[in-house]
Amino acid sequence: MAAVPHVVVITFPFASHAVKLFRLARALAAAAPAATFSFLSTAGSIAQLQEKNQENALEPNLRFVEVPDGLVSPSSGGAGTTPPPNHMARLGLFLAAAEAGGVRVALETARAAAGGARVTCVVGDAFVWMAAEAAAAVGAPWVPVWTGGPSALLAHLQGDALRDDIGDKAASRADDVLTAHPGLGSYRVRDLPDGCVFGDMHLPIVALFRRVADQLHVPGAATAVALNTFPGLLPDDVTAALAAELPQVLPIGPFHLLPVPGDDNDVADPHGCLAWLDGHAARAVAYASFGTVVTAVVGGQEELRELAAGLEASGAPFLWSLPKEYWPLLPTGFLDLDRAKVVPWAPQAAVLRHASAGAFVTHAGWASVLEGVAGGVPMACRPFFSDQRMNARMVAHVWGFGTVFEQPMTRGAVAEAVSSLLLLAGGDQGMARMQEMRDMAANAFMLPDGGSRRNLDKLLKIVCPPSSS
Ligand code: UDP
Repeated sequence: MAAVPHVVVITFPFASHAVKLFRLARALAAAAPAATFSFLSTAGSIAQLQEKNQENALEPNLRFVEVPDGLVSPSSGGAGTTPPPNHMARLGLFLAAAEAGGVRVALETARAAAGGARVTCVVGDAFVWMAAEAAAAVGAPWVPVWTGGPSALLAHLQGDALRDDIGDKAASRADDVLTAHPGLGSYRVRDLPDGCVFGDMHLPIVALFRRVADQLHVPGAATAVALNTFPGLLPDDVTAALAAELPQVLPIGPFHLLPVPGDDNDVADPHGCLAWLDGHAARAVAYASFGTVVTAVVGGQEELRELAAGLEASGAPFLWSLPKEYWPLLPTGFLDLDRAKVVPWAPQAAVLRHASAGAFVTHAGWASVLEGVAGGVPMACRPFFSDQRMNARMVAHVWGFGTVFEQPMTRGAVAEAVSSLLLLAGGDQGMARMQEMRDMAANAFMLPDGGSRRNLDKLLKIVCPPSSS
């Protein structure tokens, strides 16, 4: 008799990755109650997830297991007094520890914690590329998960060809369209993710993207690759190019709609955003948020103030998710405006599917873009780094669901973008297409043959094969 499946889901413990992978782990655990699931992350990231989920009954077959974070603590006999000061340093330490055997050791810990149950499958954030080797060492299949924009994944996979083509001419060729590269014909050189052909090539994240692309290209390493998208969302050329680069591509998004019975996390609303939206007319409110890394505006204080002035000048009521540490930078009296609600955190997906949400000012993080699509809310994108420029280009130029600020935001540009998005009506071609996409997103899991539901079933067959008991 085959062993009961023991599935390890390992996350990249930075930005919004852990929340996304945890939702996937919960959906899998709920769908396969007889299997054991171990969710691997660092102690700090696990503590955050536990805090976020304290109101929620987690699936009984899902447990947390720590992976080393690479920090040296005095209590562990090290000399340092970590944590180190910045995000990039912590990221580098985590990656070094993971590469030096941290993932393998964590798989052993998971096995011991599960009463010796052999790990039968490793589902992992693709950023933790070392999971491939750790899975192979225990004879388990590896299913990487790419949580970000699929076009950026394609750019990383085609990184060598892009570097051969563009070389050191990224600045002079910034506006060239990448028609020579399969699936990238809607993008310009300037839209590419940092580290692909320009940017600081010494950052750990840049080395990481190259390793991820290399690992995904190793024949037979990945059994399938799961993406945060749903069938029908991406243009055909992108889908075809991804299929040509990767083994079995499984679009199983949007992740925020992955079915997790009894989960009401995404409507937890300690600051009363949804009740405030209830008091407004349909499609009347602008919502602004820049995700979990950018959070405010990387462009600095000046741009933050321009955004504030632009929201005010739009004349529209607006909800702004902005961490409290930035509030002192807002113009005097701004927080007292009748039309404004500024909160440190909003239940974003629920805000964007509220009938009053009519415009979304966003950094174009991929989850935010999908939540905007799923809510049918047009977007004004201010991308900063990573996949955000390609995501923003897809929103505005491929789908026609909004606009992009190509320069730092000014009050005039913000006011104009917000006002014109709020005026868009159902008759607008982009809006009509967006409403179609919104319905497709809703059906992706709701209908038995909704594309993502079918792909999730395929993923379940890989992680818990029917022959296992
Ligand atoms: N988010 C949220 N409330 C906030 C700000 C962000 O729920 O006030 C969530 C948002 O819904 C999304 C995630 O944080 O799911 C951000 O992910 P994204 O990929 O857009 O950007 P990142 O944080 O990775 O830059």
